[in-house]
Amino acid sequence: MFDFSLSRGADDLSAVVPADRPAVRSAGDLARLIAARPADYALYFDVDGTLVDIAETPERVTVPTDLAGDLAGVRRQLGGAVAVVTGRRLADVERLLAPAEVVGSGMHGLEFQGLRSPGIEIRGIETKCIEIQNHEMRAPEALRPDEARHGVPQLAAPELDLLRADDEGPVVDSMEPRRQERPAAQLPQGLVDGVVRLAASIPGLRLEQKGPILTVHYRQIPTVGARVEAALTVLLADHGDGYHLKPGRAVAELIPDGTSKGTAIARIMTAKPFAGRCPIMIGDEHADEDAFAVARAAGGFGLAVAGEHFGAAGAAFHSAAHVRSWIADLHAGLAQ
Ligand SMILES: [Mg+2]
Repeated sequence: MFDFSLSRGADDLSAVVPADRPAVRSAGDLARLIAARPADYALYFDVDGTLVDIAETPERVTVPTDLAGDLAGVRRQLGGAVAVVTGRRLADVERLLAPAEVVGSGMHGLEFQGLRSPGIEIRGIETKCIEIQNHEMRAPEALRPDEARHGVPQLAAPELDLLRADDEGPVVDSMEPRRQERPAAQLPQGLVDGVVRLAASIPGLRLEQKGPILTVHYRQIPTVGARVEAALTVLLADHGDGYHLKPGRAVAELIPDGTSKGTAIARIMTAKPFAGRCPIMIGDEHADEDAFAVARAAGGFGLAVAGEHFGAAGAAFHSAAHVRSWIADLHAGLAQ
């Protein structure tokens, strides 16, 4: 018998689930449905704030020891239909969740891997993290990108010296051979220069480039969020043709148009074993709403994790720890 006592799914989801599923009013209810018919469901998870607690920087997240095993177990029990849909690079997620196999999409739909479908391309895109301190930046040799190979412009402004890279950052590393569908979008140089100047003007901001995505982290100085978003909006108007702003939890990302977590989940849903299953997307931030919409339009579920973006009311999960306990319960229930 499945034990739901640990699922703590008391939140009323009636406002966020399709009207034709009145029986599902909590994450616990959904776990019961999955346990009864695991071949009918596919699970999609955001990573930061959903599977792991938000940390001061993305590199400093801690991964509870049971998470990889529980995720791998549920993935087996669902015939492989468990994916991540994240803004991170998939290579970073692999490091976090090792030894669990990572399947899904990274970088807001720019990367895919592990999907058994010839229609879905797989790519690896470099990233580098640069911390800006004391209004100066300097990149060590190890961080200088191979522009010829990757076609991604270097993040730098000529009048600034790069101070140091984040030592723990997911800097340039060797990628597994992956197929590149088309050249990565080119970051407009005016946009790069403007964002670098912005970051240099506000001590404590952290700037990250993930291929064609620029991410400004301000968790260490959260009061500047509105100022950062306003400045980025102005920069986009002047230099951001083909780009849009996606605010997150103490981050603001500049992303090429036409890609999102919504496009990511839509593509995964065409691949085996995800195709034909009821999609359940779980996430904690603005960017996840694009994926929620796609999942709900397909008759599935978009379940929010409470935090800085989603309030507790209407959120299926009150924290990433709640998501993890739900996964653990699901794993245990499916094993019976
Ligand atoms: Mg998140």
